[in-house]
Amino acid sequence: MSNEVLPGDRIATIEEYETGKNTYDDGTVIRTQMIGDAIVDKKERLVNVKNLSSNSFPKTDDIVIGVVEAVMGSMIVVSVAYINSQPIVSKVECICPTRNIRKRNIALVKDLIKLKIVGNLNGTLHATMDGPDLGVLFTKCRKCGKQVVQMRDIVKCTECGWTDDRKLSSEFLKSDFIKIR
Ligand SMILES: [Zn+2]
Repeated sequence: MSNEVLPGDRIATIEEYETGKNTYDDGTVIRTQMIGDAIVDKKERLVNVKNLSSNSFPKTDDIVIGVVEAVMGSMIVVSVAYINSQPIVSKVECICPTRNIRKRNIALVKDLIKLKIVGNLNGTLHATMDGPDLGVLFTKCRKCGKQVVQMRDIVKCTECGWTDDRKLSSEFLKSDFIKIR
């Protein structure tokens, strides 16, 4: 018996069971410390939470959201924070080739970006931003670091008026994930 749990989820009462791996009791109930599979061991009267390996590492066709770590000539490096809208605990990086995108500033370091995983090549996760909903979800002005608004396919700073281009997602500034910043 197993089911997916999020940190803080109630699994059982302390009268029924004892805390096992990755769980704690808050005085009345046993709760989980991490995202994972809750496994109730009825024989030993223990509740354990096992790491969800399927969640902690992106697979092909997964939609990921992350923070741009580095911008290079022909690719960007992204630190993945969400896989299919689920937050992940362990740090995973992916790269996204950008040489086919006709923009000067596809994304900046620290931008929040949505990508689709296309595969795993020699231990490196590769992603794409080819798709209307894929691309930058949140960015700032390159000149002054202040807020920008979208104007067709460019962004304009609300402070200094600097205009710039990005590969914007159709969900630019609309995503709930802006909150995580
Ligand atoms: Zn500005």
